[in-house]
Amino acid sequence: MASKSFDVVVIGGGPGGYIAAIRAAQLGFNTACIDEWQNAKGGPAPGGTCTNVGCIPSKALLQSSEHFEQANHHFKDHGIGLDNLSIDVPKMLARKDLVVKQNNDGILYLFKKNKVSFFHGRGSFAKATEGGYEISVAGKEAETLVAKHVIVATGSNARALPGVPFDEVNVLSNDGALKVGGVPKKLGVIGSGVIGLEMGSVWRRLGAEVTVLEALPTFLAAVDEQVAKEAHKAFTKQGLKIELGVKIGEIKNEAGGVTVAYTDAKGGAQSLAVDKLIVSIGRTPNTIGLNAEAVGLKLDERGAIVVDGDCKTNLPNVWAVGDVVRGPMLAHKAEEEGVAVAERIAGQHGHVNFNTIPWVIYTSPEIAWVGQTEQQLKAEGRAYKAGSFPFMANGRARALGDTTGFVKFLADAKTDEILGVHIVGPMASELIAEAVVAMEFKASAEDIARICHAHPSLSEATKEAALAVDKRTLNF
Ligand code: FAD
Repeated sequence: MASKSFDVVVIGGGPGGYIAAIRAAQLGFNTACIDEWQNAKGGPAPGGTCTNVGCIPSKALLQSSEHFEQANHHFKDHGIGLDNLSIDVPKMLARKDLVVKQNNDGILYLFKKNKVSFFHGRGSFAKATEGGYEISVAGKEAETLVAKHVIVATGSNARALPGVPFDEVNVLSNDGALKVGGVPKKLGVIGSGVIGLEMGSVWRRLGAEVTVLEALPTFLAAVDEQVAKEAHKAFTKQGLKIELGVKIGEIKNEAGGVTVAYTDAKGGAQSLAVDKLIVSIGRTPNTIGLNAEAVGLKLDERGAIVVDGDCKTNLPNVWAVGDVVRGPMLAHKAEEEGVAVAERIAGQHGHVNFNTIPWVIYTSPEIAWVGQTEQQLKAEGRAYKAGSFPFMANGRARALGDTTGFVKFLADAKTDEILGVHIVGPMASELIAEAVVAMEFKASAEDIARICHAHPSLSEATKEAALAVDKRTLNF
């Protein structure tokens, strides 16, 4: 079998991999991308976890369930009456699958447009060659590729609790949680991180009784304390039951459902019986099938590929990006690393600023932040000023009928440079972009305070929070 030669071969077609491949092709490299994800018909489904069982399908279900929640509880405030409201779960899932497919097809189109050669199958290192690497592709047809540069972007997998494998019927990973065929009466969620809260919210809005069990004593410990407190209050009001500081004991998965034995924060023995249990306790880097040993690619004790600040591995011309390396497991972080690596291969100065990576939790209210939290600044002993503005005092939020939460700015006490922006409330995921731009340009709170923002818009809350840093809000 003749081998095919490429300047760059990318293993993994998630956001890290497919974006790296497109950027490498844009820069003039003869590029291939290998991805093994299969759709229901066994065909290619590039886009990785993000497109297939992560960001995209979860947001599709969050949107459907939010419509249901609005119709169920809030339409009447607008004078809209609805009788016999119902939810057709199979139809909702079919819509979600269509959204996923549109994204898969979009990536295949982008590969064609950018002349990236796509190979559907598992890519693994065969051997190092003079001036490159031989990569085997095991798919419908076996292929051998020769690459001068290899970018590994093989992503991550959901972590199971020891001794409690995912059966995706009763005990669900993110994959199964996106496919539940009907609204469970009782749903348990272990882990109150982003995925647990988002998936718990979907099924709670549709009528499930949801209990979230969290081992940590603090709710959303990585989030600014004030924001986490506000979000906790809102989720509890919606009916999400959140138990903190628990110790999970035996989990019995039987035909009728799952029983979780646990010790509560006060040391009391408790038991939770649910129809379905989502386990969202984190994700582990994935190098299964990569045959890293064949070339001596170094992994750390967590199984992540060891890279330096530039995403270089221990091997010459082998790079790794995204969830399979250190750093936040976020699609946009993977993408930025993919672009930066392609540019470094081209001799350019690819750059990822870890200090300005935004974080978003797509619950209702949404939570979004960039930069440092107030507790981090206190721990560092940094002198700072804080200013916040509630959506309750924002005209657009009142017109929307969603006034939960606030925007909060943290700025250096002396220079006024923005150090962190934290938002809990409507459209926080979109509003945070302004703060990211501001921080990337090293703006001061005063810069934002002096910029004209459209009225009425939620973004006025951002301007007002910046004004609040100097104690001169105009509308509160
Ligand atoms: P992945 O997306 O995991 O892609 C890796 C790809 O490589 C996969 O297609 C895999 O099949 C393929 N692969 C692996 N090994 C091989 C091999 N040997 N040969 C060929 N192919 C291989 N992040 C956000 O930023 N925003 C969100 O809203 C968000 N929501 C999420 C919701 C859920 C439920 C989950 C689970 C995750 C979410 N994430 C979100 C995280 C996001 O999905 C990941 O950070 C992102 O997908 C990582 O991209 P990646 O390219 O590193 O890996």
